[in-house]
Amino acid sequence: MIATDQHSDMLPLREAAALLGVHPTTLRRWEVQGRLGAQHLGPRGERFYTRQDVLRLAQARTERVRESQRAVVEVARAIGGSLDLHAVAQTVVEEAVRVVGSNRCAIYLLNAERTMFEPLAGIDVNDPESAEQLFYPTPLPIDAMPLLRYALDHPEPIVIEDAETHPLSNPELLRYFKTRTVINVGLRRPDGLVFALMPFVWTGEPHPVRDDDIFFAQSLARLAEVALSNALLFTRHEQERTRATIINDVVSDVNSGCNLNDTLTRAVSSLVQQLHADEGCIWLVDSEVQCMIGAAEAQTHAASCIGATLSIAASPNITRVIAEQRPVLVSRAEALGDEQVWLTLFDIQAALYVPLLTQGCLVGMAFVNYVELPAPLHADDLHFAGLLAAQCALAIERAQLLEAERARAAELEAVFEAMTDSVIISDLSGRARSYNGASMRGIGAEDLRDLAGRIKALNMRHPDGQPLELADAPTARALRGEVVTNMELLCDAPDARTQAMLCSSAPIWDASGQMIAVVTVSRNITDVLAERRARLALAESYRQTAAELEAVISQMGEGVIVVDRSGLIQLCNQYAAQLHGGANLEGTCYGQGQDYQMYLSESSASEAHALPFGRAMDGEIVTNAEWSVCRADGSLVILHGSASPIVGADGERLGAVVVLRDVTARRQLEDEKDQFLSIVSHELKTPLTTIKGLSELARRRLSRGASTDDVLHNLRTVARQVKRMEHLVGDLLDSQRLKTGVLPLSLAPIDFRAVVREARERACALTDQHTIELVQQAVEPLPISADMGRIEQVLDNMLSNAIKYSPQGSAIVIELSREANAAVLRVRDHGIGIPIEGRERLFERFYRGANVVGNKYSGLGIGLALSRELAQRHDGTLVLEATSPAGSTFKLVLPLVL
Ligand code: ADP
Repeated sequence: MIATDQHSDMLPLREAAALLGVHPTTLRRWEVQGRLGAQHLGPRGERFYTRQDVLRLAQARTERVRESQRAVVEVARAIGGSLDLHAVAQTVVEEAVRVVGSNRCAIYLLNAERTMFEPLAGIDVNDPESAEQLFYPTPLPIDAMPLLRYALDHPEPIVIEDAETHPLSNPELLRYFKTRTVINVGLRRPDGLVFALMPFVWTGEPHPVRDDDIFFAQSLARLAEVALSNALLFTRHEQERTRATIINDVVSDVNSGCNLNDTLTRAVSSLVQQLHADEGCIWLVDSEVQCMIGAAEAQTHAASCIGATLSIAASPNITRVIAEQRPVLVSRAEALGDEQVWLTLFDIQAALYVPLLTQGCLVGMAFVNYVELPAPLHADDLHFAGLLAAQCALAIERAQLLEAERARAAELEAVFEAMTDSVIISDLSGRARSYNGASMRGIGAEDLRDLAGRIKALNMRHPDGQPLELADAPTARALRGEVVTNMELLCDAPDARTQAMLCSSAPIWDASGQMIAVVTVSRNITDVLAERRARLALAESYRQTAAELEAVISQMGEGVIVVDRSGLIQLCNQYAAQLHGGANLEGTCYGQGQDYQMYLSESSASEAHALPFGRAMDGEIVTNAEWSVCRADGSLVILHGSASPIVGADGERLGAVVVLRDVTARRQLEDEKDQFLSIVSHELKTPLTTIKGLSELARRRLSRGASTDDVLHNLRTVARQVKRMEHLVGDLLDSQRLKTGVLPLSLAPIDFRAVVREARERACALTDQHTIELVQQAVEPLPISADMGRIEQVLDNMLSNAIKYSPQGSAIVIELSREANAAVLRVRDHGIGIPIEGRERLFERFYRGANVVGNKYSGLGIGLALSRELAQRHDGTLVLEATSPAGSTFKLVLPLVL
């Protein structure tokens, strides 16, 4: 038993622990650590501690607690006013080693990917100088240390007294922390998640960790937690604010149309600064040549890229970034082709490629360069880079648009100035607002101030000279909403000459349909009008010439046909049309008309190319050609003429022209002449042959002493033949006389009956085969005034024809009668008759019926022509009254003299 007084200075374990405010086991640990000695006094050997020891310990503890609390308060005060993350962290760790008594203390921040704890601040009391570089300079990979993984989920302090034995320890921990003893406290965000670690480290031998150590470590950690959370929030907020400001600045640069280079340079230096890079540059895409051109750079430390080119196709990573449309960090080792050249030139280890995109379209690329290979970039940074890049892209696009707009405006301005037409834009009050040089020159004004006065002085008037009312002026009309086009006006030019103007004016409307101005365009057309007048005069003279030519051609005594290259008739004068049957041939294909057919010879229709115009179409000049046209009515025209190709100035063949003339009559005449000559020679040769033969016979008979009768017979026959020749020659002479009008008649009153009777007797003497009957109905005399010989000639001709053309021998009837005041004589025969064709030509000179020509019927074809002429000279008529294959009747009518 221990006496109370004896024991009054001794305190049992529980009491001592209660007095010290710790757990009994803590006392046991302190005992082990040698901080407190124990006595085993109780019957069961319970532990007692001297009151003095306990009180001393309690006092020391209180002292330390008080001191530590003071330190903690000081720390809190020191960091309370600061929001600088690093400053706060540094203060905390420096105070922490003092309060907790560890050799080292540090704060690590968890990275965004939650893969690393990155050093923020640290202190080593043994070597305070190293605080600047941190004693753990490298980030702590979470996967490498179980302690870190565990700490992420357990923010309460983890005490590792001996790293060699602790289950959460591993060689990596020893390697990184170079210690056996660590108190690690997790720092939590308000939502409870660990965002940082604060390890307290005792270097060297294992350190016995006291509850106070843990308590203060935890206190400081909580302090750091709050301060760092605030500072972090502030830093993030600050960063966001700064970045927002940066983006805002670029946006306002873009909106204010700031110089593109300045904007890009500012943007790239912000990128460099915010992404903790060393330098940066922006390249613009040249879409035409598929390359990028250096445009802006910041903090360049090696080569400059301004103006340099970089092939997109030769830079695989650029191509990749364009395809992925997001920023990508490319290390020098990954760079290929052109980009590798540039990374080497820039002397950098990595670059963040940031595509500058507008609506998915690449306009350039920003490169954020790192001299040393950086840690992977935060998502926030990449997001910021993307946002800034988008604004840069907008700036580029806007600058390009502005540039294009400026170029267009300059172009328009140049066009406006270069225009030779006067252009004046007036406001709604009619005052000129802008104008081009031509307008000033045109109206002789120096500037806008005297424009209105000059316009008045122009003395504008209508083309007919009537003055132009102000309200009718084009600008005034346009101000009323009208569109005036090509209004011709006259005015006094600055040089006082009359000038013709062509004016147009129109209102200009804005997008909302409001009239905002009026544009008036005027052109000096004085020269144009003069030219036009000259042209019209020329055209008129051409027209007249053409009309004259057409008149000449149409009335020409020769036919003219002009054919174009396709064979279509373009011109056919009246004469030519008549020759082809009178149809309108223009527009038809020559040679292929339905109304006519063309022949080279009379036998068959000819191919176009063989005819003169066809040959001319082939380029030949054809002269003195003859061809014929058979018209629709069956009549045949013989044409004579020439055809030539029409060749244009450039040698091109344009068609052909045919000039033709009707030679049918001439040809007929020639035929008739030939026929006549052959007939006459035949008719004269026959009696001559007879005369020659009979004369020879008579001579021979006479020389042989033949009888006179025989010779006389021969001579009579000769005399008959001579008479016949006389007749022939007489008829020919008469015919000639008739034609020349020198056939005198010696008229005398005679009785036609007697003349007819005598004629019958003469006719009877001519033939043995025919009976010639005179049927005389009139008994009273038929007095006529006539040239006896000529009337006998007519009657003889009628009767001799009746005999000649009745070769079989038949009755011939002469009917004599009086009809009214005329003596009518009909000679009816029963001969060969007269064919229908040629009947109308019966009384033409030298015409002979088709049924007699070439037969045994002799004759010259003069008798009927001569007879009709003689009848007409006696105021009478001679006609063919009837004819058929059974005979003909000719009727002679002569006026009676009463
Ligand atoms: P010619 O008898 O010498 O031939 P004409 O002038 O007397 O000349 O007659 C012209 C033509 O008229 C004749 O060639 C003949 O064809 C025709 N002709 C005249 N009289 C008769 C007739 N009586 N019968 C048949 N044909 C006739």
